[in-house]
Amino acid sequence: MTLNSPDIADTVRVRFAPSPTGKLHVGGARTAIYNWAFARANHGSFILRIDDTDPARSTEENTQVILRALRWLGLDWDEGPEVGGDWGPYWQARRLDIYRDVARRLIREGRAYYCFCTPERLAADRKAAEERHDPFQGYQRTCRSIDPAEAQRRVDAGEPHTIRIKVPDGRGDVVIRDVVHGDVTFNARELDDFIIVRTDGTPTYNFTTVVDDATMGITHVIRGDDHLSNTPRQVIVYEAMGVPTPTFAHISMILGPDGKKLSKRHGATSVEEYRDRGYDADAFVNYLALLGWAPDGTTTIVSRDALAREFSLDRVSKNPATFDVKKLDWIQGQYLQAMSNEMFSKRVLIPELIRAGLEEGSVEEAYARRPSWFGLLASLLRPRTTLAPEVVAKARFLYEGNNVTLDEKSVKKNLAKEGARASLEAAREALTSITTGAWTTAAIDAALEPLPERLDTSKRAFYGALRVAVCGNAVSPPLGESLELLGRDTTLARLARALPLAG
Ligand code: GLU
Repeated sequence: MTLNSPDIADTVRVRFAPSPTGKLHVGGARTAIYNWAFARANHGSFILRIDDTDPARSTEENTQVILRALRWLGLDWDEGPEVGGDWGPYWQARRLDIYRDVARRLIREGRAYYCFCTPERLAADRKAAEERHDPFQGYQRTCRSIDPAEAQRRVDAGEPHTIRIKVPDGRGDVVIRDVVHGDVTFNARELDDFIIVRTDGTPTYNFTTVVDDATMGITHVIRGDDHLSNTPRQVIVYEAMGVPTPTFAHISMILGPDGKKLSKRHGATSVEEYRDRGYDADAFVNYLALLGWAPDGTTTIVSRDALAREFSLDRVSKNPATFDVKKLDWIQGQYLQAMSNEMFSKRVLIPELIRAGLEEGSVEEAYARRPSWFGLLASLLRPRTTLAPEVVAKARFLYEGNNVTLDEKSVKKNLAKEGARASLEAAREALTSITTGAWTTAAIDAALEPLPERLDTSKRAFYGALRVAVCGNAVSPPLGESLELLGRDTTLARLARALPLAG
């Protein structure tokens, strides 16, 4: 039976459980993508849970930033904040009574116990273990033997205490059957009788995570392999609760180009930063999905739909992946190239022009005003764009009326040269003969084409002078199209204005 078979299809439940202590990191985003894709590929549920049990570091603002980033990535969740669900609440801070009830039950059943050891006592025990060269230097299980009724009396009397889980005697090795890493074995003795509820009454990560995953019916835990070392402790909690363990899949870390874990030192690490730089969400998801997963050895473009159909855990690599901005840019380029002119206009071009104050109203309104004009501009800029904001510098000259900003260096290099005036005059005459109705790239190109030879000047000098005069710089898109976009009147007015500057 494969996971994709319909008989168990409904049972797949996965979760992404970010701690709202900061923005959504690219590593977290990839974990979210894998969970989302796995849920979709198996017709299961993708659950979003906010791990906000650390009140000092968790903020509502961070939660909102994370939700926004997930929405931008197009990762819709079936249960969680904003959408609700039957297995909530989906914020850990609202589940404290659930953790308390489970902890109490474990104590009642003798699977957990109160510990009254003071920090000083614990330190002294550790020191003694060190001195006698005990290979085990963890908790010495001092309070495990306190009679439960006696322990309860001390708790009722207000004595400070933690709650520890009992790692069963003779538990033997804990073997994690990890889908990505294979079997990973941990010595149960090394696990300690670890704390599940602290002295201040707050539950620990290894406890809350298991209580939630168990009570939310999570079938597969897909997360970063920085949590692999927590997993044996979590297995002990599952066993104490008497519930089956889910399937684990620990995915590799994302490294920077220097082979160290990706961090701020390497540049942008949050999803927001990539959004703000102008990456397309689909391209970004494609890139992150392929950092550690591949449908085969060669595919580089995987649409969100393909991901949602084809994602499988058995093709996730256990080797760390290196974040490579060049590859991301290449994929971004592929996505832009694959867009229609209309899509590029609406998704990339017009939003940027609005942001720069060059277009007004909504994207739809702006597009509806001049659909074919945007179509032509999009066809010019699409192959010349990697990141969305780049379109502004390239399109600005179209918005400057008759008084285009003339780039000083370009003027010096192309316009203030001998012969430039003759070029401009000839161009002006030829262009004047085209009527407004016939003002197309083809007509413009045809009118200009014979001129360099006639003037006995190089094409480079001729078009260079004309380009600077009309577009203001030497880096604008192809000239004929640029002039068509500018329109006849503006073109001629700019030529007239530039004539006195020409050599
Ligand atoms: N809140 C934890 C984290 O962000 C979740 C880890 C897990 O998936 O269990 O690292």
